[in-house]
Amino acid sequence: MDRIQTVRNARIRGANVPVDLILSPDGRIERVEPASGRATGPAEIDAGGMLVMPSFIDSHLHLDLAYSLDLVPPNESGTLAEAIRHWERVKRELTPDNVCQRAIRAIREEVSFGTGFIRTHVDVGTSAGLRLCEGVLAAREQTRDLVDIQVVAFPQDGILQDPGVLDVMREALRMGCDLVGGIAHNERTDDDSRQHIDLLFDLAEEFDRDIDCHIDETDDPYSRCTEVLAARTVERGWKGRVTASHVCALAGYDNVHAAKVIRLLAAAEVNVVTNPGVNLHLQGRFDRYPKRRGLTRVRELLAAGVNVSAGQDCIRDPFYPLGTGSLLEVGHLLIHADHLSTASQIENVGDIITTNAARTLRLSEYGLEPGCWADLVVLPVNSMHEAFRTRPAPPAVLKRGVRVSR
Ligand SMILES: [Zn+2]
Repeated sequence: MDRIQTVRNARIRGANVPVDLILSPDGRIERVEPASGRATGPAEIDAGGMLVMPSFIDSHLHLDLAYSLDLVPPNESGTLAEAIRHWERVKRELTPDNVCQRAIRAIREEVSFGTGFIRTHVDVGTSAGLRLCEGVLAAREQTRDLVDIQVVAFPQDGILQDPGVLDVMREALRMGCDLVGGIAHNERTDDDSRQHIDLLFDLAEEFDRDIDCHIDETDDPYSRCTEVLAARTVERGWKGRVTASHVCALAGYDNVHAAKVIRLLAAAEVNVVTNPGVNLHLQGRFDRYPKRRGLTRVRELLAAGVNVSAGQDCIRDPFYPLGTGSLLEVGHLLIHADHLSTASQIENVGDIITTNAARTLRLSEYGLEPGCWADLVVLPVNSMHEAFRTRPAPPAVLKRGVRVSR
């Protein structure tokens, strides 16, 4: 793979004229200058006025599940609950090698679409043990030159419902998982869900880690875990270190209660991740017609100053039969699902899959400023609006200055 010294004639957002990005030998952006001519030689890319963005960030993925659809019986109801049930049986038999091979396939696909960073959840519990975790950590190791991956130790079957899971999570964190995961709504009672959240903070304190919790991934308007997560974030001193994934029930709350929860999320600096494809697909399953969309209140969260990003979540697994790993496709779905229609709303979805997600992952040295890593994607369009409309394959993807896909 080629190390690139200069990306010439790049269109970057916010600049009126094309620029040259001069890269340093260690793979950072050294300077950004007005464009000065055509590219010469193999160490230069001529973007020819195409849009150059910092790499896309997939802030919510399940690499252990990717391409597992054919391993499980069909999800006849299409619900989250049936998918969890099928997966529970299959995961007992999976080997780390099987998980690793499928994860690498998904990672390569994501990279080919311009993804440079992934936050993946990995199922750890008394059924999954640590085998899925071993597979995903091995895949991360084998693809470390292509993409940066954060791994969340995720108790898919709950914590109070799965006695012994906390010790498995502890071991997963020692093995190399980065974050404490959760699934607060997947407990028997509201009291158990609240206790689940307290246990996540205990574990996060024990290991000094951030939290990314699946939460209120249901249409049930009485599923009220998100407000507890936000309140505990403040009480436990974890502001800015907590992500609430999905938050679908927020869309079902009455507007007065939703406003309160959104205020709590903003005050606690909790990041929200929406997964438009999967939320559209799994939610609304108890509705006849009209069917709800299932996503959280993205526009209202953004308007209140909550940091929102979006993820692919699933690729061809028991939860979701489609999914490619293209963040342009994720954005395309979000634009439809949340009624984002003005030019600026559509352009801002470009932030949702880049800078907002970088804040969720707490990345430093991310962007197009001098000093940032040259993690770049070249797109044959002149705006993010056009990128979402046409969803083109990127002609070039760079990781720390090295061309990793063309
Ligand atoms: Zn998920």
